Amino acid sequence: MNIALIAHDRKKDDMVDFAVAYEHVLQKHQLYATGTTGKRIMESTKLKVHRFLSGPLGGDQQIGAMVAQNEMDLILFFRDPLMAQPHEPDIIALLRLSDVHNIPLATNFGTAEILVKALERGDFAWRAVVHPMTPEDRA
Ligand code: PGA
Repeated sequence: MNIALIAHDRKKDDMVDFAVAYEHVLQKHQLYATGTTGKRIMESTKLKVHRFLSGPLGGDQQIGAMVAQNEMDLILFFRDPLMAQPHEPDIIALLRLSDVHNIPLATNFGTAEILVKALERGDFAWRAVVHPMTPEDRA
């Protein structure tokens, strides 16, 4: 599965804790992240993470592009609900696209734990049936 990891600044410690706790699950998948989140995860775990641009510079949109092409299977997005983000429109766009394409998305640690346990159990195996999108699907 292709999994996206994003954490706003005041949630990055939580994301690192999460990645450490569930490294055994995450290591079996292809991981993508916004720039700083990916860097923090790789500094604290042995996980290999493809890093996109930092969120405010377009990283959320890059992940959104994968969602639009049906190439992202799960998004773990630790949002900061108490601080305005300069790239709020990009964040809303990513949430919207995930809803458009029915991509499971957690916006906090609690939901992320439930989703990663479901992932471990194989509950997202159905994604392999629809992923990746064939060239015919793109037409
Ligand atoms: P970052 O981006 O991982 O590069 O910090 C996430 C964000 O703050 O949107």
